[in-house]
Amino acid sequence: MEKNLTIKEIQEWEKSFTKKKHISQKEEEAIKIAIFKLVEETGEVAKAILEENWDEVPAEVSDVIVFACKIANIAEEFHKTDTLTNVMRRKIEYCEKRKYDTKIRKFDKPKSDEFK
Ligand SMILES: [Mg+2]
Repeated sequence: MEKNLTIKEIQEWEKSFTKKKHISQKEEEAIKIAIFKLVEETGEVAKAILEENWDEVPAEVSDVIVFACKIANIAEEFHKTDTLTNVMRRKIEYCEKRKYDTKIRKFDKPKSDEFK
């Protein structure tokens, strides 16, 4: 059986891994690495799909998740934002309220102070 892996566990792993590998912990350097790598890894997902290398897709999606978590770590640590887990939970609740229009393939936008 597959074991669950939480967002928090991924975020904690990312933090300890970068420390262990001596990757910069300074905000300016870390955010630059994180956003550029996120874009790069997103491109790798697209490339794998385009080339129909489906076995590579989950690994590339994993890279995207790690760098997205790294960005959330930086926001939490340096800017005291709410945690990614909490925001994700509220985001899912918000998405559940939205109605999908199959004709125009778009969700409506119920009023929310948080999500625009
Ligand atoms: Mg990759």
